[in-house]
Amino acid sequence: MAKIIVVLSLFLSFSTAAYMEELKWPKGETFLTFLDKNHLPSSIYYSLDKEEQELAAEIVAGVKYQVLKSEDNQLEQVLIPIGEELQMHLKKKDDKFVMEITPIVLQQESRSLAIEIHSSPFVDILNATNSYALANEFAQTFRGEVNLRNLQKGDKLVLLYQQKRRLGKLFGSIKIDVSMVETAKKKNYIYFYKENYYDPKGQELDSFLLSSPVNYTRISSPFTQMRWHPILLKYRAHLGIDYAASVGTPVKAAGNGKVAFVGERGGYGNTVEITHDSSFKTLYGHLNGFAKGLRGGQSVKQGQVIAYVGNTGLSSGPHLHFGLYRNNVAINPASVVKIAKSALGGNELKAFIDYTSELRKKVDSALENSDTIPYKEENFNLAYPFEPKQS
Ligand SMILES: [Zn+2]
Repeated sequence: MAKIIVVLSLFLSFSTAAYMEELKWPKGETFLTFLDKNHLPSSIYYSLDKEEQELAAEIVAGVKYQVLKSEDNQLEQVLIPIGEELQMHLKKKDDKFVMEITPIVLQQESRSLAIEIHSSPFVDILNATNSYALANEFAQTFRGEVNLRNLQKGDKLVLLYQQKRRLGKLFGSIKIDVSMVETAKKKNYIYFYKENYYDPKGQELDSFLLSSPVNYTRISSPFTQMRWHPILLKYRAHLGIDYAASVGTPVKAAGNGKVAFVGERGGYGNTVEITHDSSFKTLYGHLNGFAKGLRGGQSVKQGQVIAYVGNTGLSSGPHLHFGLYRNNVAINPASVVKIAKSALGGNELKAFIDYTSELRKKVDSALENSDTIPYKEENFNLAYPFEPKQS
């Protein structure tokens, strides 16, 4: 941990003459084209190992990254976030640039918001907090029995949520532990529990995914968030599930959606991406080939064959790399699939009921204190790493 802090403080206080720029990763830019544009050798990319090259393919268009330049405008260091936990750290070392994957240092914040509805929840949340991310998260996840369009002036809304800050600015996704909308004297709740949103009965809200998009022989690599590799002395992550299967095995769309990308994507080789509603995306990597005629913008149905298992990109054997993203952030497909089949039951349901009754007490106390002024984010559009989507 000490090492991480040194790295960051080095970056921030490198030299008084140096300055830091925050830039937006352009659409279509890859790590290789980035190196080329900045007159850096492509060997930086090619000397990365397989997992690092896969991570380099995870850079999201629109993400904010930081560049440190010397006073004579020479590139000194670059920090590019990959997902919510790791970043690529490019830095000069003895006149040569090296790339290292380091953890993002984040501050966690728990907040509550209790407001009266004046126009619509989306607009009222935005006005109260300046936070598109929060308004979006609410709009995407609140699917109670309440029709949000029928709310009356004076109806109440409470959100208890968690957010993160990087280099002083809001970063990454927001988790709303509980959303409560009170209308016609009835309180309606949605809870976040174990990586999913649930109604009060413990029914999971997003259940659109196939249990697996391919007939596989075994899972050759599970999803792993950031971890430290004790032998390689590197930070690692595997932002998807690898399903071992023979070349040519059909790959099916995990859910209804629209094809967002067909083509080659760095370490993932031949890749298909499908967007499933405003917030979910699936990625299928290392493909041998695509279904005939498959192209961007096309609608696909759940279970439809979109491609075939292969060994393209950086791959040590034929397998499908399957990634799942919520608001462009990689999440564990297994966590969604596991619960998609049914509602919580047994001991898990008991734990859920206990957990949610505690949250309801907090909602009530937030309601009692609803005259406190909500916290307003500054420059929110500049702070959020991903393009805010207005719904
Ligand atoms: Zn993989």
